[in-house]
Amino acid sequence: MSVHDRSVSDADGTRVVRAGLPEEEPYAPPLPGPVFAAHYHLPGDIEGAPYAYGRDANPTWSALERAVAALEAPQDPAAEAVVFASGMGAISAVLLSQLGPGQTVVLPSDGYNLLAALRARLEGFGVQVRTAPTDGWDEPGRLDVLAGARLLWLETPSNPGLDVCDIRRLADAAHERGALVAVDNTLATPLGQRPLELGADLAVASGTKALTGHGDVLLGYIVCRDAELAASVRAWRKTVGAIPGPMEAWLAHRSLATLDVRTRRQAGNALAVAEALTARPEVSDVRHPGLPGDDAHALAVRQMSRYGCVVSFTLPDKAYAERFLSGLRLVGEATSFGGVRSTAERRGRWGGDAVPEGFVRLSVGVEDAADLVADIRRSLDEARTSAQ
Ligand SMILES: *Cc1c(COP(=O)(O)O)cnc(C)c1O
Repeated sequence: MSVHDRSVSDADGTRVVRAGLPEEEPYAPPLPGPVFAAHYHLPGDIEGAPYAYGRDANPTWSALERAVAALEAPQDPAAEAVVFASGMGAISAVLLSQLGPGQTVVLPSDGYNLLAALRARLEGFGVQVRTAPTDGWDEPGRLDVLAGARLLWLETPSNPGLDVCDIRRLADAAHERGALVAVDNTLATPLGQRPLELGADLAVASGTKALTGHGDVLLGYIVCRDAELAASVRAWRKTVGAIPGPMEAWLAHRSLATLDVRTRRQAGNALAVAEALTARPEVSDVRHPGLPGDDAHALAVRQMSRYGCVVSFTLPDKAYAERFLSGLRLVGEATSFGGVRSTAERRGRWGGDAVPEGFVRLSVGVEDAADLVADIRRSLDEARTSAQ
């Protein structure tokens, strides 16, 4: 057995180590190395040629695409993935290839901060952009925002606010009104949540974060069931050239084998850290979907199977948060999230997110949970002492 055979097991840990691998061949490597090629031998008629030019296709991407499709849609062998140079490459490919002048898109009020730049671009091209809150979908009349829309964009859990929205319910409501639904699945990873099984048309993500998990690769992808939709997004990739390098694609594929152990450990550590933070009087608004007291927990339990590595919370002010961050020894001050090493940052330093000055986004790595909790408690103690 080489490619994942579902008759043996469908468990996450088993699936990730074989996802996308070719059939076993004597004396060949299990995961073939990166193929560096700008062009391929291309004799005669080009009809049906799988590889012609390096901007259109590459065997290293193909293997990664098979793997990512197998993780996002394990029950659907027809699902297709398209990989990109970055998460933004994938997000813009969907929005810019599927929307034209006069069409309407509904974007979330809290979401990845570059969505705002993309929104301005879409408006410049004559696309109508509406905003919907990441929470509060239950309020009367809220679904009216979907009327006449071509696409609903969801990000759940949202970054950095960690609200969770009900993918199944919103996908049904959007489909009744003729809209496509795309879900940014970056934070959860396909082991934490499978948007396509919850009714979405597209799962879109940055592979830069927990999917690859080592903080050394930028990558993006989309997965969808509809072959025409996949072809149209793939054509966009070819046109704008938002392609991953073969080395990045290979590193990403290599990293998938540990996705189960990394995300399991990170989710456990994140819960331990979130619980420790909740016990501190100087810390407010601790958010983590796995925290039983979190507003989003009940919904998260229904649609997620692990709750990710991100914990957010608020310290009294900017200086307090800066003292806390600089006092940490096991948590580096850096942006991004999902890596094996814990990192944290004050999101307010970027501008753009609607968060208080003392708001901290913490990405919990795979370190020992007790060590992390001790480091965080010590740095909080020190930040408080120097406030007095
Ligand atoms: C990081 C991130 C992106 C953008 O991905 P890049 O790989 O940095 O381009 C998009 N969505 C979410 C939720 C992210 O966290």
